[in-house]
Amino acid sequence: MKKITVFSFSEKGNRVNLEIAELLSSDAEVESSLQSADAGSLVERTERAFRGDALIFVGAAGIAVRAIAPFIRSKDKDPAVIVIDELKQHVIPILSGHLGGANDLARSLAELLSAEEVITTATDINKVFAVDSFASERGIGIENPERIKDVSAALLRNEEVGISLSPFLSDIFPKTLHLVPKCLCLGVGCRKGTEYDKLKSFILDFLKDRNISLSAVSDIATIDIKRNEAAIKRFVDEHNLGLRFFTAEELKDLPDSFGFSESDFVLEKTGVSNVCERSAVKRALELGGEGRVSLLEKKQVSGGMTLAVALYDGTGGTGDIHPEGEKPGEDPGKSCEDPEKSGSGRGSISVVGIGPGSPDKLTPEAGRAIIKADIVIGYRVYTELIKELTEGKTVISSEMRRERERCGKAREYALKGNRVAVVCSGDAGIYGMAGLIFEVCANDPDIEVTVIPGITAALAGGALLGSPLTNDFSVISLSDHLTDKETINKRLRAAGEADLVTVLYNPKSRVRQDSLKEAVEILMERVPPDRVCGYVKNIGREGEIKKLCTLRELPEEDIDMFTTVFIGNSDTVIINGRMVTERGYREA
Ligand code: SAH
Repeated sequence: MKKITVFSFSEKGNRVNLEIAELLSSDAEVESSLQSADAGSLVERTERAFRGDALIFVGAAGIAVRAIAPFIRSKDKDPAVIVIDELKQHVIPILSGHLGGANDLARSLAELLSAEEVITTATDINKVFAVDSFASERGIGIENPERIKDVSAALLRNEEVGISLSPFLSDIFPKTLHLVPKCLCLGVGCRKGTEYDKLKSFILDFLKDRNISLSAVSDIATIDIKRNEAAIKRFVDEHNLGLRFFTAEELKDLPDSFGFSESDFVLEKTGVSNVCERSAVKRALELGGEGRVSLLEKKQVSGGMTLAVALYDGTGGTGDIHPEGEKPGEDPGKSCEDPEKSGSGRGSISVVGIGPGSPDKLTPEAGRAIIKADIVIGYRVYTELIKELTEGKTVISSEMRRERERCGKAREYALKGNRVAVVCSGDAGIYGMAGLIFEVCANDPDIEVTVIPGITAALAGGALLGSPLTNDFSVISLSDHLTDKETINKRLRAAGEADLVTVLYNPKSRVRQDSLKEAVEILMERVPPDRVCGYVKNIGREGEIKKLCTLRELPEEDIDMFTTVFIGNSDTVIINGRMVTERGYREA
């Protein structure tokens, strides 16, 4: 229950004070701090009240401001403070309008007293989304509250902002505000008498290495024989967590679909083959409900301590916070068989499309796959583009045309039990590495290969130009490195013949200076020279250019290997300077 203290300084004020206490008492624990001879100093009373959830001052705003001034700390810690004049005309939230809930409390008080609320926070009066209210209403923590004001300021200027709602703390946007829902349970095991400092560093380092926020952790769970383990108790107390114990019988009673690691050693000692993974999942199921729980991090072992993390839906069903592609039992992480033996388990490769270049076109799923990887492999230009996500990881960059070598390396590392991310620009499957990874790993069923799609140049470029791909289209690469010229020409002719909008990838290279010119000549056998065309260069990177022209003009244009070319079909027109293929919608 919320703790509210109401202060008053006059007889009239005292009457209003008692009225407010009465009105709020059904939903909160309310204390009336009345003006009287033996009330004690206001400073002391305010200090005590500041540990609660809200302070209401009946009287002048100045008195309230002076009383609270010594105790104000920060947006995310201060209680709500409200002032009401003694004639009950105005209810004014003066501190913690959003995170502390002062605005909401003022609104309900105003309604109860038939008074008027005086709201002064800019997001509210301008009717702009207030991220701190959003978070506090849902019990979601804010990892970097110092950024709230930047987000509100940007929204008021009608600019874009980057907000992540996730237990992970990686910056997927140039400036990310991290909202962290409580959605994780840690399963812990340790030898009897484990030192507190040892356990603490193990847990905190484990989370830090994985970019997981401690604020996302709601509970620690373990087996009941650890009931008196002082280190676990202290960790829970110091970090304000829930603590849950399960019997061996309860831990056995879980579906195998989570893919728990089994250990005879642990079975012998405790009566169940795995303590940390099972208790984490068991507690997560209690909190998050069936079907919405996964084993996020499998058992890790260090110095006789074990740790695993389970994820549940901590948003109360208001949003899906499950990392895609992580179904129970599919965790690609390393697993260790018993506490004293660490070794390599099943490795994995994700082939990740990172989009054309700018971070806002990198999907959250792609970002997570890179963050979760132990090793990142890719062509140097691409690994440079995602540098912020790969800090502290092994990054293997290579030059162009080393595709087989790159994929071979990915396979080798995966066989050793690593999580490998192979990054490609745009989409991972479109002229990317995904196909080759499957070929290279054809005889390694133990390596789990996942393909994570990205925004390909045709889509990002098409959007920049307008809507050239409204109807059927074809995509043709002019590179004759792996496809012979005859085949390319045959496909160009067919596309022209079929009146398909055509997107050309790899239009030119240093050694293929004439390839675009030749392609245009072939197309002009079927397509009129004044056909609407466009091209986009360096999408999402420095030097981004988009331009419209005709088919005849294309060979003269400034087009290189970082350009994607769009050739319209007979329905393609220019509308207000944008390239649009009309699909033929007519008024009914
Ligand atoms: N997998 C990539 C394509 C790789 S082939 C994707 O899905 O986008 C390389 C070609 O893609 C380039 O020659 C160019 O035609 C196109 N391309 C890739 N990134 C681009 C960008 N940022 N701007 C313009 N064209 C790009």
